[in-house]
Amino acid sequence: MLGAAATLTGEKVLARSEEEYDTVTDNPIVISTWNFGLDANKAAWKVLKSGGTALDAVEAGVRIPEADPRVNSVGYGGAPDRDGHVTLDACIMDHKYRCGSVMAIEHIMHPISVARLVMEKTPHIVLAGEGALQFALENGFKKENMLHPEAEKAWKEWLKKAEYNPVMNAENKGYHKKKDPMPGSKTNHDTIGMLAMDARGNLSGACTTSGLAYKMRGRVGDSPIIGAGLYVDNEVGAATSTGVGEEVIRIAGSHLVVELMRQGYSPEKACKKAVERIIKCNPEVAKKAQVCFLAMNKHGEHGGYALHPGFVYALRDKNTEEMMQPKHIYQE
Ligand code: ASP
Repeated sequence: MLGAAATLTGEKVLARSEEEYDTVTDNPIVISTWNFGLDANKAAWKVLKSGGTALDAVEAGVRIPEADPRVNSVGYGGAPDRDGHVTLDACIMDHKYRCGSVMAIEHIMHPISVARLVMEKTPHIVLAGEGALQFALENGFKKENMLHPEAEKAWKEWLKKAEYNPVMNAENKGYHKKKDPMPGSKTNHDTIGMLAMDARGNLSGACTTSGLAYKMRGRVGDSPIIGAGLYVDNEVGAATSTGVGEEVIRIAGSHLVVELMRQGYSPEKACKKAVERIIKCNPEVAKKAQVCFLAMNKHGEHGGYALHPGFVYALRDKNTEEMMQPKHIYQE
């Protein structure tokens, strides 16, 4: 049912009722970036299979790599900036365009949960740096040391040359190999972006990262930026990204993918077109940098696309739990 609501300018717009957002589906589903998405999906699936909301599912899901020191590109264990500070970026978005984000927050184990509180408890969408930390502490979050000894060791090693040079897909090379309990110590980026549809057919997404390793102090990537690292439009679908954030921000990547799905492109095709836009904007950088998109539409169809080989995403629904290998543009 549509009801009329007045905007600030007095103009009448059509607003949706709560029920109108619900279209029951018997097939909840969750997808998330990289190998560490498998464990994250397990936590999200627990919520989804018991009838929980996609919003609760994505928050629960991405909290897993946030607290896992083996994942050195997200949360605890994440690589610090070039001055040795672990600064974290995260955002979350639900099926009603509600969203929250924290940028460059320090000392907090679960930035995604702070982002959700920004969404639910403040009139704002983004809190950054000191202000984000203050808000977290005021709301009962604990101040913690987020620099894991392994990450500190790797940073000190990096300081010897102090060359800034993102490593493509390094995360994917190590995680979940039993021989290598602290893999990815050579990784210097890779975010978890997670998209879920719940049993009511509602979509939500979450995205959280420590950003590019050894970045400049204060640098913020695409991941906490609504429309860049994550976007959800419950009428159409949801998208998220991972890779060199500067290239994603330039094209408002996740929003672009959702708009392409609105035009009728499948999730995979929409992601491919966004990746092609990256090449068009910055062809020289695109040859060297990894950027990947992941998307799901309103029917639970999903797909991804990357600039370079190596991108994988994890899928979980009632029938399957598996890793997917999307296509890529460059063939090296
Ligand atoms: N997109 C993240 C950033 O630029 C890094 C990554 O996903 O690899 O901060």
